[in-house]
Parts: sequence; C-alpha cells; structure tokens
Amino acid sequence: MPEIEFNNIVKRFGRVTVLEDLNLQVDDGEFLVLLGPSGCGKTTLLNMLAGLQEVTGGSIVIGGRDVTDLDPKDRGLAMVFQSYALYPTKTVRGNLKFGLSVQKLDRAEIERRVAWAANLLQIDKLLDRKPAQLSGGQRQRVAIGRALVKNVDVFLFDEPLSNLDAKLRTEMRLEIKQLHQELEKTIVFVTHDQVEAMTMASRIAVMNGGVIQQIATPDEIYERPANLFVAQFIGSPAMNTLKATVERADGSVSAVHAPTGARIDLSAYSFSAAPKDGDAVIVGLRPEHFSIGCNGHADAGAYFSLPVRYTEKTGSDVTAFLDSGDGGLIAVRFDHKHHHVPKMGEMVEIHFPKDRFDIFDAASEKRI
Ligand code: ATP
Repeated sequence: MPEIEFNNIVKRFGRVTVLEDLNLQVDDGEFLVLLGPSGCGKTTLLNMLAGLQEVTGGSIVIGGRDVTDLDPKDRGLAMVFQSYALYPTKTVRGNLKFGLSVQKLDRAEIERRVAWAANLLQIDKLLDRKPAQLSGGQRQRVAIGRALVKNVDVFLFDEPLSNLDAKLRTEMRLEIKQLHQELEKTIVFVTHDQVEAMTMASRIAVMNGGVIQQIATPDEIYERPANLFVAQFIGSPAMNTLKATVERADGSVSAVHAPTGARIDLSAYSFSAAPKDGDAVIVGLRPEHFSIGCNGHADAGAYFSLPVRYTEKTGSDVTAFLDSGDGGLIAVRFDHKHHHVPKMGEMVEIHFPKDRFDIFDAASEKRI
C-alpha cells in the first residue's frame, strides 16, 4: 500500500488553475523529490499534503486514511521549511520541545526524544543556545530536529537547503540522505535543484506547469527522459538538441542534421515508436558523452567538425561551446588533462557514441 496518495488533485487560486487532475503515489519509506522550475506548483502540492492549503478538488490519503479535510496537526506528518521558522526567543532545547507541545507527552518522554534528535543531528552541545547564536547549518539542523522529535511516519521538506552556502548544502544533502537511510521514514522533498534531486531521491517527480512530466528513479530520468523538458532540465550543461530529419534506406535508420550535414546513425537506438522516413525529430546529445576526434571509431554514431565559439573551465573539466551552424551551440564536455583546451575559432572534431542518443518527436516533444 502506498504511504501517500494524491487522487485527481485540482488547485485553483481564483480563476488561475495551478494543478489540474494530478495523481501521484509515494511508497512507504520512499524519498520522493518534487523537482521543477519556480512556479511549477511543487510547494502548493506539498502545502496541500501538509494541510496548510486546501485542495479545490480531489483527495489526499496518508497511510490509508483520507486526510483531505483534516487539520495539519492530525495528519501524522512533520514539515521542515526553507525559512527554518525557529522561535528566536527560545533556546535550541525550547525549539525542539515546542514541536511536541500539542502531543501531550510526559516530561521524561519529551526529554528522551529531544536528547535522541540532538544526538542524531550533532546539536547536543548547542541545546542552551538561542538561534541567533547558531550558524545557518546549525539552525537548519534544529529545524530538522524539531520535525524529528514528533516521531511521525512522513516528513516534508520545502527547499530546506536553499539558504545555505554551496559547501554546507553538499554536507546537509549527505546528512539528510543518511538520516533517511537510518530512520526508514517516508520523505517528500521539494526543490528546484537537480543535483539535490539526483543525489538524494529514491524517485523524482519532475514537474512543469502544474503537470508531472515523469516519475522515475534518478538513473531512469537521466538515461531515459520521457520528454524534451525533462531531458533539458536534468544535466549540466543541458543536453544539446538538434532538429533532424529521419532517413530510412535498406533497413537502416538515420537522421540528418541539415546545418552541419551530419548523418546520425540511429541503428543502435531502441525506438518505442519507430519514426517514418521524412519525420522531423529532435536528437538529444549530452555534452559529457562526446569524445574528441573524428572518423573510424567503431562505437561512433555521429561525427562533427565545428568551430569553437568559447570555452568554460571548471576545475578538471572543460566545456567547449561549438557553433552548430544554425545559430545555436553544441556544448561538449571533456577532461582537459587528456586534451588541449581549444581556442576560439579553432575547428574541433568530435564524435558521439551511437548507443547514447535520446530521440524525441519534433511536434509532441515526447521520447520515441
Ligand atoms: P517556487 O520554487 O518559486 O516556490 P513552486 O513550484 O513551489 O515555485 P508554487 O509556489 O507552488 O510554485 O506556485 C505555483 C503557482 O501558483 C505559481 O504560478 C504561483 O504564482 C501560483 N500561486 C501560488 N500561491 C498563490 C496564491 N495564493 N494566489 C494566486 N496564485 C498563487
């Protein structure tokens, strides 16, 4: 039985429809990440699950119980907010205890839970400090601790890491992931950061414009994006896309990219819906799958020889942006230890492995 069910959810603000007939199930013990650009409706969905916003239509079930009309405190979940929402006048201990005030527990049990959470989150030395005397990361741990002490089955996180610097974010990512593995509780985590989603989730629901575009494991989302939106939202730099025309001859299938004249060999691609001769498709090529060098590579499905517009160096990697001949750019990422960094205007020869293409229908933008 799934732990959480969103059934035919509709959400309107006045005449604006934010979510229309959304269905989603979250399994018991799963770490589900709601991922999407700003304004796609992920916080609204989380708030409705928490009971902080009403649904316009549909139902929400948690642990087999219809909670659609229940108060937040009766839903059996705990939430961690982006803003931490700590009480500035209370100590860390006071903040942790406050989460338990509605549960009517005896003092010994409250002390036990506070000590357990503080120990787990390594804030046991900070219990007598006020939030103003803590670093951002420590405050975030207190906010997580306040959710943990409630001892519920479902935890909700709304962009909890976005106020932290890059290093701390990386550390907290790992901590939250370890916490999930230790506690084995269900987590629904909202973020617009693809790296957070890819590193922490058991499954990711990618949203855009109020619609779930794909729900799958991080590997599946990266390897087999369901449509062009998902393909370009996941991966950095974003997947390159080339408009091409399918050519079928003598049982072989390829696609021709007119601006570069490149013939893209699709014989190793497993189509879910085989295109016809002359069909317009979009060929996706991830920057990290290119190799430098031309001709004669057994695994190559496409070759290009293109001038460099500019390059970007990020530590060990270099991304070269090549002129694709139609006003666009093709990003190619490679390890600069093994290749020299090309200069602006220099011609670079590259090839792409034939088992790594992603092919989308040009009109529907769905994977084919
Ligand atoms: P972000 O990452 O920026 O928080 P999000 O994906 O969480 O974005 P939501 O906050 O869920 O997006 O908002 C979804 C849509 O609903 C947006 O277009 C937003 O403008 C709209 N919206 C949210 N709250 C209200 C409201 N109270 N009244 C009207 N429209 C709203």
